[in-house]
Amino acid sequence: MRIPFVTANWKMNKTVSETLDYIDVFNTSEQVESRIEVALAPPFTSLYPAAQAASKTTTLIAGQDLHWEAEGAFTGQVSAVMLKEAGATYVIIGHSERRHIFGETDDDVNRKVHAAIENGLKPILCVGETLDDRETKKTMSVLDRQLATSLMNLPSDHINRLIVAYEPVWAIGTGHVATPEQAQEVHAHIRLYIGQVYGQDAANHCRIIYGGSVKQTNVAEIVSQPDVDGVLVGGASLEPKSFVQIVEKIANSAL
Ligand code: PEP
Repeated sequence: MRIPFVTANWKMNKTVSETLDYIDVFNTSEQVESRIEVALAPPFTSLYPAAQAASKTTTLIAGQDLHWEAEGAFTGQVSAVMLKEAGATYVIIGHSERRHIFGETDDDVNRKVHAAIENGLKPILCVGETLDDRETKKTMSVLDRQLATSLMNLPSDHINRLIVAYEPVWAIGTGHVATPEQAQEVHAHIRLYIGQVYGQDAANHCRIIYGGSVKQTNVAEIVSQPDVDGVLVGGASLEPKSFVQIVEKIANSAL
């Protein structure tokens, strides 16, 4: 049984005071909290205050990125140790905006996955195809390449710390959500891949979540699919009441 996981990705949104206001309003019932794991990924400047404010709740905190080195002359970067000490449990790695706007490669993503795991953070590894990849029927080969390189040399006993987020690039921030069937097909493929490389037990335990234009009105259908274990939410997570509704819908679908 895989506990559903949902994370908000605030991207470059919210100051410290806006973060604290959000966490004041973001309230889920104990019943909901017992059925689902929830994380918020604020910008770096809000990580510590968010972790402090959420410390009396079950809501966890995630970084949006990290650098693979522990410290040094890397202006503008933040390490796994820094994230951990600021209160993060998870870290998003390889988000499509990091790959496409900042030129991050699968090799970079691999270094980041290792750095996260070696320092006790749980990676949320983002993979996904572009519209061109999908239209030219390359979706599965692109995902296989991203997974193979991003997870290179990762021992199988570490795979249980990993969450894979399937985020088709054409669905992120566009309003074009994948159909439940499209999501299920890719998630089943990712699970098969994990099973082939890391064994059936790892595949059964690994949570694979979907991201891309998820909102209150489409989340229930998406998470009703057998291989969809939760969601990563960008735009619709910025307003706490709307994110609460998404969390509640997933918790109810887990009954
Ligand atoms: C994201 O940030 O990865 C994302 C899925 O954004 P949105 O929900 O806005 O599409």
